[in-house]
Amino acid sequence: EFKAIIQKLIDSPDNQHEPLTNFIANSFEKPEKWMDSVNPATGKPWIKIPDGSAIEVDAAVAAAKEAFKTVMDIPRCVQNFRDFANAALYTLSTSKILEQPAGKCVNYVKHDPVGVAGLISPWNLPLYLLSFKLAPALVAGNTVVCKPSEMTSVTAWVLMHAFKLVGFPVGVVNMIMGEGKTAGQRLVDHPDVHLISFTGSTVIGKKIQEDSAKMNKKVSLEMGGKNPGIVYANYRKSDIATIARSSFLNQGEICLCTSRLFVQKPIFEEFVKSYVEEAEKFTVGNPTTAVQIGAMNSKIHYEKVKKYIEIAKNEGGNIHCGGVKTILNGCEDGYYIAPTVITGLPDSSQCMTDEIFGPVVCITPFETAEEVIERANSTSYGLSATVWSANTDELLNTANELRAGTVWCNTWLARELSMPFGGCKQSGTGREGLHDSLHFYSDAKTVCVNL
Ligand code: NAD
Repeated sequence: EFKAIIQKLIDSPDNQHEPLTNFIANSFEKPEKWMDSVNPATGKPWIKIPDGSAIEVDAAVAAAKEAFKTVMDIPRCVQNFRDFANAALYTLSTSKILEQPAGKCVNYVKHDPVGVAGLISPWNLPLYLLSFKLAPALVAGNTVVCKPSEMTSVTAWVLMHAFKLVGFPVGVVNMIMGEGKTAGQRLVDHPDVHLISFTGSTVIGKKIQEDSAKMNKKVSLEMGGKNPGIVYANYRKSDIATIARSSFLNQGEICLCTSRLFVQKPIFEEFVKSYVEEAEKFTVGNPTTAVQIGAMNSKIHYEKVKKYIEIAKNEGGNIHCGGVKTILNGCEDGYYIAPTVITGLPDSSQCMTDEIFGPVVCITPFETAEEVIERANSTSYGLSATVWSANTDELLNTANELRAGTVWCNTWLARELSMPFGGCKQSGTGREGLHDSLHFYSDAKTVCVNL
């Protein structure tokens, strides 16, 4: 039945799909209003999704609240559920005896669920990022209302069918689709939502933190980045393809993508040449065909990425390759940008300080480790970084000094779920990962019993 739901989505021609629905108390509910979801590959609407209102958010929160009284894309999504379920067996609960003149007390720690959890996720890697919240929130005993991005809600809607089909208790998992400023904001403001887990942009994350503070909600924020890559002169040349992949995978629309590359002076020219050759190997086109780079997620996002390429040109930057690309056969109105490599910009350029979130990388030379560490740390972000060198001391000394939640040395995007994940500075607050997530989604309570 689950496969049939997915197959129907795949088989129906654009605009002939049944409109999607919210998922409230195990029931797929029609919303008051729908809005178009645009296929970025063609630039045209393909399916209608709910434009969630405060009334619908309230109904979902009420279902989650009621359920809380009685209840406790991707292989990575499955792994999230399995690993959190296993970790829960070993992570929570400790006990200790306290001896005092009046007698012995036994202390134990119980991890209570927090209540109704609001899970707000972004459009990139939509299923993976949602399940990274959903699995620990449920294992810790919370009930949830999910608000996936209005740009990419369809996979979350399919996942809700899985919950329904396996017979999840009514109201434990709910989902409201719609815009951030209405459906998302209502979730943040709702007095019966006790915890907000947000992944998305820094601007929205900071607003959510401010609004949640009014009710002292527990908040976890995974936000934007401007991730540096540091390439020392003795880097392993066989890593060049991985370094390029770290900038361009998924059109550069991964929060962990490298967007500033610092390359040591003696190898700068030679490195740029090899790197451009790698960038030009990426095939760009209709994502339903065998290509490596598809369309930018939306028109707004496409315009934003184009704007940064224009800024680079106006500031005298040297554009080695990339830029806007036209794709034929029905994709003429799609939002395509080829891997773009820029040199010659100062660290103060907006292209070097702002999150672009597209297949655009700026490369700049450096001389010493001390200098590059200071420059790499100079933006307001601190999500991730990469260091490339054949010398272990150089790798570790640099990694130790970088202000980032994750530093990859001679690799990129190798993720181990039990490790803490999150950002420093304006990239985030809190950490996700097996132990960190289970602690975030629960409230530790110490019980002291006089024996
Ligand atoms: P976004 O901030 O625009 O939206 C994220 C989610 O928040 C969406 O579901 C949106 O509808 C909702 N939202 C918007 N306004 C809201 C409001 N006022 N109240 C409540 N919810 C609201 O981000 P995006 O464009 O979807 O995603 C891209 C951003 O996400 C990038 O900045 C990227 O770096 C970041 N990101 C971070 C991580 C990480 O782990 N740190 C992972 C993926 C993406």
